[in-house]
Amino acid sequence: MIDIGVNLLHPQFDPDRDAVLDRAWRAGVEHIVVTGTDLAASADAAAFAARHGASRLSATAGIHPHDARQAPQDWLERLEALCRGEAVVAVGETGLDFNRNFSPPEDQLALFEGQTRLAARLGLPLFVHDREASDAVAGVLAAEADFSAGVVVHCFTGDREALRRYLALGCWIGVTGWVCDPRRGRDLRALAPEIPLERLLVETDAPFLRPGNAPRDDHGRRNEPALLPWVIETLAACRGEAPEALAAATADNARRFFRLGPA
Ligand SMILES: [Zn+2]
Repeated sequence: MIDIGVNLLHPQFDPDRDAVLDRAWRAGVEHIVVTGTDLAASADAAAFAARHGASRLSATAGIHPHDARQAPQDWLERLEALCRGEAVVAVGETGLDFNRNFSPPEDQLALFEGQTRLAARLGLPLFVHDREASDAVAGVLAAEADFSAGVVVHCFTGDREALRRYLALGCWIGVTGWVCDPRRGRDLRALAPEIPLERLLVETDAPFLRPGNAPRDDHGRRNEPALLPWVIETLAACRGEAPEALAAATADNARRFFRLGPA
């Protein structure tokens, strides 16, 4: 299994980050892509991943739409420098979030367009966040001509129309424990069989979105990468597939998408 989205440097993991990783490896997770969400967090994620070695950890480098407002004037050159680091395998997390609008939409859009072009220029995949912004996200992606390195819409929560547009644009789809929530995840559960297996990736988005079907432990609502099997189990059930086969296929996909090299 490969978890393509873990906010591993989140303060919620400060007390026991090494134990979190140990549990992930013991649960059968073989590689984790650590999500970078602003310049400082992306630098930390890349340094952390580099310390642990490319076989186990890699990182994305980007500025999350929530943080668009705080981006410094010279964000693009600083981000480009980070993206050239050895452990960085994708540009992001970037995108648009019109659910919470922690940053004004025009700031989000400017940062998203800039990061889309940066990924194209560097030949890196793009790690995209879309929350209630599918039309605008798809519009920005459609305007960018060069997608050869790939785009993943992580934590997909859109409707059928959004899924079709993303697939038509050649995007890959990341599924989180959102799918494990019978109420919030109802639409995603229904759409799950329509995602082509060769475009499917799985992620926990930990410490967020703890899968509701995972057994209780001492960590309350905190999610962690060791719980990825619970996402895969639900997703496989929705698709009528064996969890083991889905785990193997999505791990192969992640290696291909992020160019991680053989296991
Ligand atoms: Zn996100």
